[in-house]
Amino acid sequence: MVQILRGDAVADALCRSVADEISAMLANGGIAPGLAVILVGEDPPSEIYVARKMLRARQVGIRSFEHRLPGDTAEADLLALIGSLNADPAVHGILIQLPLPPQIDAKRVLDAIDPAKDVDGFHPVNVGRLSIGGEGLTPCTPLGCMLLLEQVITEFRGLKAVVIGKSNIVGKPVALLLLERECTVTVTHIYTQNLPGIVRGADIVVVATGSPRLVRGDWVKPGAVVIDVGITRVIGSDGKARLVGDAAADEMEHAAVVTPVPNGVGPMTIACLMSNTVKAARPPR
Ligand code: NAD
Repeated sequence: MVQILRGDAVADALCRSVADEISAMLANGGIAPGLAVILVGEDPPSEIYVARKMLRARQVGIRSFEHRLPGDTAEADLLALIGSLNADPAVHGILIQLPLPPQIDAKRVLDAIDPAKDVDGFHPVNVGRLSIGGEGLTPCTPLGCMLLLEQVITEFRGLKAVVIGKSNIVGKPVALLLLERECTVTVTHIYTQNLPGIVRGADIVVVATGSPRLVRGDWVKPGAVVIDVGITRVIGSDGKARLVGDAAADEMEHAAVVTPVPNGVGPMTIACLMSNTVKAARPPR
């Protein structure tokens, strides 16, 4: 029978270890890690994500600094704020909630964050470190996917992994992490031909497309592990909204493991943000 691998318990355990490390830092005379969260404009889903991140930060002992800027903020003003946070010794991590309003070039803004404080792992320096397998800050959702996979897979070497979606925030970094573990990785996307046939060969499937129920049961080989990153809000026939993943989990009895949506990858993303913040706050060795 398929194992439904929930992320909330794994995320709670990770947050407990982050909280323990922060207690030890304080006991040794250090300061609490600080996380600055910047939200520009009023985007309801972003407000929810930021509130969840701030709550988790408080729970584990991270000091959070919230910066809410109006939707018409000029790019220069946002860059000036990032400059001051880069220089602030109480701030170890800087997170800019995306999306940004159209007058702001997100790439320029993300590039302005000090790579040592880039807890989202989006800065080109951290992307480069990830691609050469070096020490850096790894994007939270891909890191969360790997921690979930580690719950159920002990030997990654030689496994066939198929990643569906090639975004910079999920697909590409997760593919690099799987490659680092010596999986044979195939990255696919919306223009990939014969996607079901490719997925049928996979021991590990990571799907991050935002296309609800894209991966059907008959695409997945018996014994495969399916990590479902996708989250789409869908209005059902009863008029109620619910969150739907990219995998048709109810068709996957023959798989070994499937992550649910919600309570799969989502909680891991926030927990990994906490662990990246404490990592950024560790004194250099
Ligand atoms: P994106 O739009 O940047 O990229 C989507 C990718 O999927 C693209 O590479 C596209 O080519 C591919 N794709 C789209 N439709 C496809 C199809 N029918 N067949 C094959 N490939 C297809 O999206 P993203 O930012 O990577 O996010 C993907 C999903 O993951 C979204 O549902 C998003 O909400 C979710 N997400 C969840 C978390 C989390 O914490 N759980 C974090 C980030 C993103």
